[in-house]
Amino acid sequence: MSKTTLQALLDEREWLLADGATGTNFFDMGLMSGDAPEMWNLDREDSKKVRTLHRKFIESGSDIILTNTFGGGRHRLKLHDAQDQVFEINKAAAQLARAEADSVEHPVIVAGSIGPTGEIFQPIGELSYEEGVASFKEQAEGLKAGGVDVFWIETISAEDEMKAAIEGCSGLGLPIVGTMSFDTNGRTMMGITPEAFADFMANVAGNPIAMGANCGTGASELIGTVLGITKAQPDAIVVAKGNCGIPEFKEGEIHYSGTPELMADYARLALDAGARIIGGCCGTSYDHLAAMRQALEGYKKQERPSIETVVEKLGEVSEIAKSGGCGHNHGAKPAARKGRRRRPSA
Ligand SMILES: [Zn+2]
Repeated sequence: MSKTTLQALLDEREWLLADGATGTNFFDMGLMSGDAPEMWNLDREDSKKVRTLHRKFIESGSDIILTNTFGGGRHRLKLHDAQDQVFEINKAAAQLARAEADSVEHPVIVAGSIGPTGEIFQPIGELSYEEGVASFKEQAEGLKAGGVDVFWIETISAEDEMKAAIEGCSGLGLPIVGTMSFDTNGRTMMGITPEAFADFMANVAGNPIAMGANCGTGASELIGTVLGITKAQPDAIVVAKGNCGIPEFKEGEIHYSGTPELMADYARLALDAGARIIGGCCGTSYDHLAAMRQALEGYKKQERPSIETVVEKLGEVSEIAKSGGCGHNHGAKPAARKGRRRRPSA
């Protein structure tokens, strides 16, 4: 088991560094588009790559590593005909991360990554709330059996799905972190503003230990989102796990523009904006992580940045971010919410 807990680390440190991308780094390690990275957890050879990524993040200074289980729920695994292997895939993934975390002297927290089901909940979609809870519970039980320290629900865009995920993880005796992805003009795909999310998380049953934002669009927008969350809930422990710059399509593939220097600025701004747990999402490699660690070490937290400072250092943000995360001042409309949800990633 772990030598410490997330709460104990938070009590003794001003900030903790989470890890970087899973998906985009695995593509660089040979994952093919359309394949499920979660299947690597059970493969003798491919599971070595999973451990390598964990190890490199730890070497770059990550205090928290996320298991390779983002798409490890039954609905996502069904696309790969692996819906009957939820428990063993998640258990194996947790064991891989646990082995790397326990191989170093200093404490490293293993967080069990839990992504969205990929389904839309009733009444708009077809998944019942109860089925959602059962799916999250099944995944959480596998993660716990493999030794995670905390459940890490991420890239969620709807309140009912977050609630179901927290309920599914509750009762297993581990702390719960929940982050949403604000990727649609400053809101989640289902229209939630950072302010509304913060208030929701502060009151949701299950008492999550931390809330925050991951993925989304760029590093700049992520800081805008964090400013909205910390404004609404100043006492919350907030997670910032932003993408490495802005995604750009080049020759049919997504590339991320962020340099280690940009992510270093992002990390310091995240701390200034009130985040306590800081990491990267898509496009963030170990080089970026190492630069973020260096940027935070010895840095003295500054006053809360204005959105103008964020834009100046990291790039443009949405109108919602400019309004302080509530969307009341600018009349920005929530995005159209039709059709099937696209497949998110972490
Ligand atoms: Zn991402």
